[in-house]
Amino acid sequence: MKPVIGFIGIGKMGAPMAQNLLKAGYPLVVYDLREQAIENLVKAGAEKASSVQNLASRSSIVITMLPASPDVEAVVLGPEGVIKGTKPGDIVIDMSSSYPTSTKMIWERLAAKGIRMLDAPVSGGTEGARDGTLAIMVGGEQKDYEECRPILEIMGQNIYYLGKIGAGHTVKALNNLCSACSMVITSEALVVATKLGLSPDKVIDAINSSSGRSWSSQVKFPSFVLNNAFNSGFTIGLMNKDLEMATRLGRELHIPMFVGAIVQQLYNYAVGQGRENDCSSAIVKIIEDWGGVKVRSKEGG
Ligand code: NAD
Repeated sequence: MKPVIGFIGIGKMGAPMAQNLLKAGYPLVVYDLREQAIENLVKAGAEKASSVQNLASRSSIVITMLPASPDVEAVVLGPEGVIKGTKPGDIVIDMSSSYPTSTKMIWERLAAKGIRMLDAPVSGGTEGARDGTLAIMVGGEQKDYEECRPILEIMGQNIYYLGKIGAGHTVKALNNLCSACSMVITSEALVVATKLGLSPDKVIDAINSSSGRSWSSQVKFPSFVLNNAFNSGFTIGLMNKDLEMATRLGRELHIPMFVGAIVQQLYNYAVGQGRENDCSSAIVKIIEDWGGVKVRSKEGG
């Protein structure tokens, strides 16, 4: 019999991930601060929990897909948190993009009660969540990972076991550091090219066949920038949080991260400009303002 899964945080990513677990036949108990999010999942066959503690007491595996570490700490360790409802042997899987130091602290508190934990953040966006094709980066005990792998395989296609607890969250933050840096440098290149009167479509095509290409040039620019869609579902606020975590790792290790630090300041500035909930690809708009041009296809512009 399939174990009951409790799912907390059914937002842009969590909702489609939870839907895929339901479709695969897992009994699901759900909780979110937003009533509407819960109702949508209940219509699809999930059961509603009255609280986080109630959800944990009804499940043997609890998945969290929350904005950031402070939310995960509150939900798992709070006075009526997951820790109050879980039983020894249960597993908590934090799939949010969280801070590894916080993850280790949560793991220690859970381990003291005999509760197991994996960190398993994801990459691939809302589309990957919907299609069950996410990349999943896992940290924790390998035997716990092997036990949970069939569940992770429903939500993701490429699953990487990276090491002890916190390893998944570390690699996820570093991945987004690479992603944000390539987005900013591609934005600078495209603003310069557009200012010089070149066609952004032709420039992107040329870069995408050359050594400057990246996920930003190959996917983000065509899908979200050139067509003016800016609808990736991943926000500047969340990217800023990931960059803050990645550069904090560098600070704690006394490793200078000159490029990453500047890019983080740019996203932090964008948040200050009221762009926190904008699509993360809208970072290009800050550079467009400096250049006085917009990088759009003729049709998209
Ligand atoms: P979201 O804001 O759409 O969803 C978060 C959900 O958590 C919301 O429904 C919110 O109501 C709920 N929530 C917040 N605090 C809660 C609490 N205390 N108790 C119960 N529910 C609570 O965010 P998202 O875009 O789904 O991102 C979730 C995580 O996944 C983040 O860590 C993000 O960095 C990461 N991520 C997002 C994407 C993306 O494309 N959106 C891609 C990869 C990773």
